[in-house]
Amino acid sequence: MLILDDNMEKEIVKSVVEMSAYVFERGLVSGKAGNVSARFKTESGDIVAITPTLKSLADLNEEDIVLVNEKGELLTKGKPSSEVGMHLAIYREKPDVYGIAHTHSPYATGFAFSNKRIKRLEGFGAIKSEYLKDIEYFKPGSKELAEAAAESLKTEDAIILKNHGVIATGETVKEAAALVEFVEEIAKTQFVTHVLNSIE
Ligand SMILES: [Zn+2]
Repeated sequence: MLILDDNMEKEIVKSVVEMSAYVFERGLVSGKAGNVSARFKTESGDIVAITPTLKSLADLNEEDIVLVNEKGELLTKGKPSSEVGMHLAIYREKPDVYGIAHTHSPYATGFAFSNKRIKRLEGFGAIKSEYLKDIEYFKPGSKELAEAAAESLKTEDAIILKNHGVIATGETVKEAAALVEFVEEIAKTQFVTHVLNSIE
């Protein structure tokens, strides 16, 4: 029998609902795209609270959030996001990460579909390389994507998934959501800069 810390569980689920609405309101996801999760510790192991599949992040309820253990086994009813494997792989590789947000925000995803890369700006911690790291395309929901993203995020807090979108990690789900928003903002700024520079 699994013993959950009720208050902790409620708080985490609430933060996933709030940050899902946040990324939707900020225009970082649309339709039923994107997924958000948070992890919490219990005596019987880590639990991940994640958004459900095939539902808009706009107006989720706390009952919509799906709980899974580290192995991905369902602890509640409902069906988790198709990217649950990617979230779990990242949590496995990054013990200090407690929140993840994945979006298809338009400007950053535009870069992801182009041959242009997003320049790093202050705000990404130590700037180790000039551009935001990206990983090659793998089918959404695949094991290959989960492994490649987790590997790449070992040394990064945000990466671009080529021909797909953005994923970011944080010590909290709020931090992860703030980071996907920041990536979108710098992508937008760079796009505007490119356009303005091209005008005679
Ligand atoms: Zn996606």
